[in-house]
Amino acid sequence: MKYISTRGGDTATFNEAVMKGIASDGGLFVPETLPDLSGKLEDWRGLGYSTLAHAFLAHFATDIPDCELRDCVERAYDGFPSPVAPLTELGREDGEDSGGAPLYLLELFHGPTLAFKDFPLQLLGQLYARNLHATARPLNILCATSGDTGSAAIHGVPADKGIHSFILYPEGRVSALQERQIACTGSPHVHALAVRGSFDDAQAIVKTILADTPFATAHALTPVNSINIARILAQCVYYLDAALRLNASEANPLEFIVPTGNFGNVLAGWMLGRMGVPGLRFCAATNVNAVVADFFQKGVYRPGPVTPSLAPSMDIQQASNFERWLWWHFDGDGARLRAALETLGRDGALTLAPGDGTAGAGLRATTCDDAALRLQIQGAYERAGCLIDPHTACAFAAVRPDMRTVVLATAHPAKFPEIIAEITGEKPTHAALDELRLRRIAKKVLPADADAVRAAITAALQQA
Ligand SMILES: *Cc1c(COP(=O)(O)O)cnc(C)c1O
Repeated sequence: MKYISTRGGDTATFNEAVMKGIASDGGLFVPETLPDLSGKLEDWRGLGYSTLAHAFLAHFATDIPDCELRDCVERAYDGFPSPVAPLTELGREDGEDSGGAPLYLLELFHGPTLAFKDFPLQLLGQLYARNLHATARPLNILCATSGDTGSAAIHGVPADKGIHSFILYPEGRVSALQERQIACTGSPHVHALAVRGSFDDAQAIVKTILADTPFATAHALTPVNSINIARILAQCVYYLDAALRLNASEANPLEFIVPTGNFGNVLAGWMLGRMGVPGLRFCAATNVNAVVADFFQKGVYRPGPVTPSLAPSMDIQQASNFERWLWWHFDGDGARLRAALETLGRDGALTLAPGDGTAGAGLRATTCDDAALRLQIQGAYERAGCLIDPHTACAFAAVRPDMRTVVLATAHPAKFPEIIAEITGEKPTHAALDELRLRRIAKKVLPADADAVRAAITAALQQA
């Protein structure tokens, strides 16, 4: 399987695409063609999670020896409880006998850092470690995070490989628990760098340092970002697992409602439809940052300033994976995509021509403000005694009564104890997070300045 850049100027094998993260022309890697899986589905029904993940990923990771791929996948999901991605049926608001279609919750928060980002990042960490072993080249990780990605990246990297993780985050702007997940690991290989600035500042520093090729090479720095193709492909698997378990078909379709920010998670599910998995519908559920929802409702993509919300991991205006969706929408025409991005850069907005609608895309989109999100948290608790996190609440707001539905739960409620306790009176807890509260925070607070971060990286690697 060959990977090409959405912008038409780069190609790579799977492993090259994984290690590069972003294509050299600034585009995102996509598989040149998608496999037709329709003939495999019956054989795959009933497989365990890791076995299914391996069978699926083998279509994409064609330059990794099969037994090594299997080891990576098994190690990635070994640390999850069983089942890896539990599917539970919930009662509808209007009662069991109302004839409402079944409603399921797909719980993606049982991994080591209690958010769905563990699914892609556990696998990515194993792929990095395999590459380290295969090439004997050192490798360290550099990442800017607004919360969940940093800790999921740290926990994805195998502890015994000598890989250092440098995690930049905005000082004082991630939640107390999220900071503890980054700064209380106790590992000498994890370096929490709190930058006095915003997430955008931290992200800009990472870009500056990675663009400084002599420095990045000398320190073997590899980015972990939200656009790595391995992350998207890893996320396809839980949709496939749920679709097989619930027998999705054109006659009996299933709608997945996905809390959405960068558009990576919902894109992964949507891609399965293009691989011959039948009966799948999708809803991208955003918070008040409604760029994606506006696009699918009105055909205009117009990123603006970020509005902070109660669902902070979705406080995003530049939905980076949207570029991949557009590429498929433009039938893989890189030149057309480049022209569209130029228009977006020049006008600040992208408008689809009339007749070039998104109606047939099998994808709708919704938006949910903080007030509506609070009502959903309250409603789920009163109806079913179910505690849901604020991101998942945005998805609940999009549920339709007539549709067989799977809501994706992207974070454990215990990651957001204060707001949930305020709304429901019950404080969600989790032993792994309680234990973190007892540990010492080990972080370096730095000015929002690339030189200060460079110095911290050099010092840490010299001491190691
Ligand atoms: C990252 C994240 C999202 C958004 O996922 P995208 O792939 O960026 O759309 C939703 N919920 C939680 C809890 C997250 O951490």
